[in-house]
Amino acid sequence: MAGVLQDGGTGSETEVCQCAEVRGLVLACLCSPNPLHCVACRGEIGGEALGLAGREIEELRRCFAVNGALFELWLESGEYADFAKTSLLNPEGQVNRDGMEMARRLSTRWPTYYWWFQDAEDGEAEKCPSCGEELDRSVEWGSGKCERCRVMV
Ligand SMILES: [Zn+2]
Ligand SMILES: [Zn+2]
Repeated sequence: MAGVLQDGGTGSETEVCQCAEVRGLVLACLCSPNPLHCVACRGEIGGEALGLAGREIEELRRCFAVNGALFELWLESGEYADFAKTSLLNPEGQVNRDGMEMARRLSTRWPTYYWWFQDAEDGEAEKCPSCGEELDRSVEWGSGKCERCRVMV
């Protein structure tokens, strides 16, 4: 089910990746300041463990802090919820442009995808939220991915 990933409640979102090797990464804001997740098991992976430079880890944190703040605003369903959702879905929006850029950069070392916000009430995504192409369904979690945009939903 789309969106279940970010609904939380089970505590599973803070689990750490135990895979023997990292096959790929998903950059997602899942209730933790660290956006690095395993493409296979969804567990968290520390930037230090991957050998990322301190500067890169800091940049990721900063980028996803904005993403997380918007997500919180949306969750609270208050005055700014619509603004937050519009920002998170906007292909030209800063969080999405930055997220895709980070995924592109990390992809030179591991296949990396940027996890795009989705409201479960809007139904499951069939097309890439960035370019509108049909999604590649060969994913271990989520609905699908777009190789061109480095996006996963
Ligand atoms: Zn893993
Ligand atoms: Zn795309």
